[in-house]
Amino acid sequence: MSNTVHQVPSRLLDSSKCPKPHIDSFEKYKKIYEESIKDPQAFWGKQAKELLHWHKPFETVLTGGLEHGDVAWFREGELNASYNCIDRHALANPDKVAIIHEADEPGNSRRITYGELLHEVSRLANTLKSLGLKKGDTVAIYMPMIPEAAVAFLACARLGLVHSVVFAGFSSEALRSRIIDASSKLVITADEGRRGGKTIHTKKIVDVALEGCSTVEHVLVFRRTGSEVPFSAPRDLWWHEELEKHRPYCPPEIVNAEDPLFLLYTSGSTGKPKGVVHATAGYLLGAAITFKYTFDYQENDVYGCMADIGWITGHTYIIYGPLLNGATTVLFESTPVYPTASRYWEVVAQHKITQLYTAPTAIRLLRRFGNDYVKGHDLSSLRIIGSVGEPINPEAWEWYYEVVGRKECSVVDTYWQTETGSIVLTPLPGATPMKPGSATFPFFGIEPAVLEAETGKELEGNDVEGVLVIKKPWPSMARTVYNNHHRYMDTYLNVYKGYYFTGDGVGRDHDGFYWIRGRVDDVISVSGHRLSTAEIESALISHQSVAEAAVIGVHDDLTGQCVHAFCTLKPDQGGTDVSELVLQVRKVIGPFAAPKKIYISSDLPKTRSGKIMRRVLRKIVSGETNQLGDLSTLADPSIIPVLIDIVQKS
Ligand code: ATP
Ligand code: MG
Repeated sequence: MSNTVHQVPSRLLDSSKCPKPHIDSFEKYKKIYEESIKDPQAFWGKQAKELLHWHKPFETVLTGGLEHGDVAWFREGELNASYNCIDRHALANPDKVAIIHEADEPGNSRRITYGELLHEVSRLANTLKSLGLKKGDTVAIYMPMIPEAAVAFLACARLGLVHSVVFAGFSSEALRSRIIDASSKLVITADEGRRGGKTIHTKKIVDVALEGCSTVEHVLVFRRTGSEVPFSAPRDLWWHEELEKHRPYCPPEIVNAEDPLFLLYTSGSTGKPKGVVHATAGYLLGAAITFKYTFDYQENDVYGCMADIGWITGHTYIIYGPLLNGATTVLFESTPVYPTASRYWEVVAQHKITQLYTAPTAIRLLRRFGNDYVKGHDLSSLRIIGSVGEPINPEAWEWYYEVVGRKECSVVDTYWQTETGSIVLTPLPGATPMKPGSATFPFFGIEPAVLEAETGKELEGNDVEGVLVIKKPWPSMARTVYNNHHRYMDTYLNVYKGYYFTGDGVGRDHDGFYWIRGRVDDVISVSGHRLSTAEIESALISHQSVAEAAVIGVHDDLTGQCVHAFCTLKPDQGGTDVSELVLQVRKVIGPFAAPKKIYISSDLPKTRSGKIMRRVLRKIVSGETNQLGDLSTLADPSIIPVLIDIVQKS
């Protein structure tokens, strides 16, 4: 646990340099937070009226609760998500840029205004209507990072169709199982995708996925590269041919607050992905308010989230959050290292990005490449730099803060989940002191608690360790798992009755800061000491030659469990002696946490969103290589035999 505290950079509070933050002192944050917890219904009711447009106002703020899993927000209210994201802004300011598309090929960018977005979304919505799709039907979206993907989300929302976005790097099998689970009637896709200079055969993958899949009636194909692709009429339709037939205005289908807006499968870090269902109004409110305050959104900002639209981060913080606020959002099609490890910085400088949001895996990767790739790029437009997806190791945090942020930007380490819909723990950039590696404090209206894992007893006060739960419903929480409410109850609400269980371990330090320790499933217990994966991994990364680390608990006759670690090294550190790394952990944490074995490999098993899959490492080390579990979300399957070999030879 690092004790370094960084205050809000003075530049952010200097009105000659930066716009005045919405929340510009910690006292102000605390005051609003306390009000939001004391009377959540008053708080959320007021925010819902201010931040969303209602076609029919709600009367009740909240009914139901965590006990029975019957939560409903704003239940009489009616609204439309695409109206809220587009029409409001297209009416007031049609020429404002909604989306900047930064294509895979450097130097190719495209700007789409709110007015144009309304036209495109309307044409597509009219197309979908003409194909017979009706409110409540599910549509699979399997698209590259192009503006048409956003158009597809919003056209579904315009008609009350439920979108189920599948990350376009997934295999045919992963796509097929998601299409079948969601009973999707239509697939919206592209001929091909481009990423990091490589071509992805998107349409071909869809065709294989659809073999033996009876629910899908049509496949709508956008032409991204123009290459020849397999095409089978009448099932397959070209986007450009269909949209041309329809007029560029489509009235929004007004839906109930609790009607589903989308479903989305979790990353699969801990097991089989779950089809998480989000309700329209509550989700939109969570997206709008967290975007506004966490990224301190101001009128002239250019905001860039580097996630993929296939993940919840892309849903909430590339599309819904920014557009609800009328912001300009960057849609980035490429990778942080294409054509070089300077790509992010070139994009920031070119578009004058004010908020950059990415994941620890990308930050660690760029840190591994070294500072030269960052230097020489004008990053002065940045005010806020964010991280999401995994605990960020303090060493990587400091690098981000100093080298990218030049100590002049607030770092927002945002903790949340597919199921929470929007950010639940985060600093606010103009208000919250930062501790590297801590997601700091709860967002407004979120009441976290720390429970003792075994007994479920609530641990009050500071300096406590346990599991992270949330005590009261919040608007953007998932309402169910698609067609599997039982699984929803058992995973989130029945574990500790009356609480929402996150599945993550947490510490609340002497100052009340929250520290995510990693998955409860991954916690390691050595001679009765409960060790956090995040803490040991951060100790390893603090050694100058380590780029990434993953630790797991392995059965040990003497101590119950012992620690094994997998590390990747920075370039030219091949000669590093593993005993040095063991020493590093003894020094930083203590002898009891010292890894019994360290394996050096070229990569770690990660989900396609870049999260380390420790469950796979556990199986490899215990020799259960024929029971690796669901690998559909694994980014690079070729690493598995390599890791098995390393472990067997050790
Ligand atoms: P699955 O639920 O299928 O195992 P997943 O939990 O990885 O997959 P997501 O919903 O994408 O799916 O990820 C949420 C999880 O990511 C959190 O529960 C937490 O473990 C981790 N996480 C996200 N942001 C942070 C953060 N800022 N700090 C620490 N951990 C984070
Ligand atoms: Mg999860």
